[in-house]
Amino acid sequence: MLYKRSSELFAQASKVIPGGVNSPVRAFKAVGGTPIFIKEAKGAYLYDEDGNRLIDYIASWGPMILGHAYEPVTNAVIEKTKKGTSFGTPTEIETKIAELAVAMVPNIDKIRFVNSGTEACMSAVRLARGFTGRDKIIKFAGCYHGHSDSFLIQAGSGAVTFGSPNSPGVTQGTAKDTLLAPYNNLDAVEALFEANKDEIAAIIIEPIAGNMGCVIPKEGFLEGLRALCDKHNTLLIFDEVMTGFRLGKGGAQEKLGIDADIVTFGKVIGGGLPVGAFAARAEIMSYLAPEGPVYQAGTLSGNPLAMAAGLAMLTALNDTPEVFESLEKKTAYLHEGFEKALSKTSLEYTINRFGSMISVFFAKDEVVDFETSATANNDTFKKYFHGMLAEGIYLPPSSFESYFLNDALSYEDLDFTIAAFEKVVATL
Ligand SMILES: *Cc1c(COP(=O)(O)O)cnc(C)c1O
Repeated sequence: MLYKRSSELFAQASKVIPGGVNSPVRAFKAVGGTPIFIKEAKGAYLYDEDGNRLIDYIASWGPMILGHAYEPVTNAVIEKTKKGTSFGTPTEIETKIAELAVAMVPNIDKIRFVNSGTEACMSAVRLARGFTGRDKIIKFAGCYHGHSDSFLIQAGSGAVTFGSPNSPGVTQGTAKDTLLAPYNNLDAVEALFEANKDEIAAIIIEPIAGNMGCVIPKEGFLEGLRALCDKHNTLLIFDEVMTGFRLGKGGAQEKLGIDADIVTFGKVIGGGLPVGAFAARAEIMSYLAPEGPVYQAGTLSGNPLAMAAGLAMLTALNDTPEVFESLEKKTAYLHEGFEKALSKTSLEYTINRFGSMISVFFAKDEVVDFETSATANNDTFKKYFHGMLAEGIYLPPSSFESYFLNDALSYEDLDFTIAAFEKVVATL
């Protein structure tokens, strides 16, 4: 495949945009090479600036769950656009999508819309702090909750009680209120509660993690967090920016049968437009301005175009919930094909899958947290990534990402992908 025009466009972009991209993972830093500039997309396929067709396993990091340029969504946006793009006033469509979201997701009475997953998680934590009157939060190493200061904290050795910033620009003052624990380690969380009695406002977690590759909670882990939160009057925040409206109508809460106190959304809920949201029962949401004292606002929050896209997307998912089952079957099919191909090689590997999320780790042992995810062989991953790309398969350009299937993928596409996979892994 040729990427001549992509290379030129990247060079041009790099002169005026830091690193040539508006979000770092797009830059191919982890895998080397030049990022691919996409011109258009339809269904399961991306078409790049050099005229290559790629089978897409990223789905814009989740939102395009029904495939690209999905007509009910694009038509809804086109129709809305003709009537004005922003008013700075309430509009009826905001209530419509809120009603639908509240009906689809268990355990929430009210929802507020924002512009990104980052904003949703940032606001959810502020709300939890306002509601509990406490400052500290617990997050898990390897979980991503957007790029606001409180969340850019990673486990360093010895950083058990106090987090240390992993991005310059995050102050120590902010970092000290974020406590870290390894994913799937209930004892570590218990120890944090012991050491910080009556100080922890919330635990925030990806109920199925997708930002250290796909990592699945062990039996009893989330139940244990729920019990600890109940015991210590701490709120449990499920960051469902990835899992919401992807694992099922009701997201991870429904799929796993565990109630969170606050749930955050993004990605699918905007159907490809910039939308995030956070939701909770009325008692908690009543703390938000203008009803309550916790301030949160947004000039373009609930924007009519974004709401039109989101409403069309949620309506489609609500009306055809068999999509979730179809996606899960396709992902299982892919998993089986990958497994078969890998078993013929001498490579060390682990495949994690949940619903329509799947990751292949070139790691020997089970991947259950950030530390085990980080043991995966990155040199092998790089060769694998570029090998698949050369076959026309577009995978996330980092081993710390999950693939997101979209329902426009046909079994023919999956067979093509598995054949490419078999060919590529045989060369590793
Ligand atoms: C993508 C993501 C976010 C951040 O959402 P943005 O819209 O990129 O700000 C937060 N949490 C999780 C779990 C995510 O996957």
